Amino acid sequence: MKTTSFFCILLLLPLFTFQACGQNKETKSSTIIPVEKNQGKPGNPYYSHTDTNKLNLSNAEWKKVLPEDVYAVMREAETERAFTGKYWNTDVKGTYYCASCGNLLFRSGAKFASSCGWPSFFEQENKKSIVFKDDNSLGMERIEALCGRCGGHLGHIFDDGPAPTGKRYCMNSIALDFVPDTK
Ligand code: FE
Repeated sequence: MKTTSFFCILLLLPLFTFQACGQNKETKSSTIIPVEKNQGKPGNPYYSHTDTNKLNLSNAEWKKVLPEDVYAVMREAETERAFTGKYWNTDVKGTYYCASCGNLLFRSGAKFASSCGWPSFFEQENKKSIVFKDDNSLGMERIEALCGRCGGHLGHIFDDGPAPTGKRYCMNSIALDFVPDTK
């Protein structure tokens, strides 16, 4: 009996050893959740293409998460120089989102070639995309266009646009994030 037990232990020993090695080799699985393409931005927890809840953050809070040049336009209403932005002269098919919060603003089908030097659109994507405010700064009477989700300054809207709306949404490129169509 003793001999049989001894051989049983010898036979099972490699199994125990294998399991022990397996446990030693096991590493904790990563908890990193892959970020869907163009969803979220490093360092900006407010950016989303799917969250439509309004944001009511102070400029101090925005200053922590926005690049300096985006902050200057979107929170201090500065204007980028004409013919310098990355979207004023493009006609690639795709979607334009708010550069601060990811709110859906325009489809490329609403963009038109304008000689003004800023990306121009005749129609916002939906009612929540953009809201408006009277702007009497710089001695002019204009209507400011603001992101409907975060309130960030996008540009101005004018009545000299093409049909069918007759509107010209005159935007700062830096206030826009463009995602080209994939098909
Ligand atoms: Fe926004």
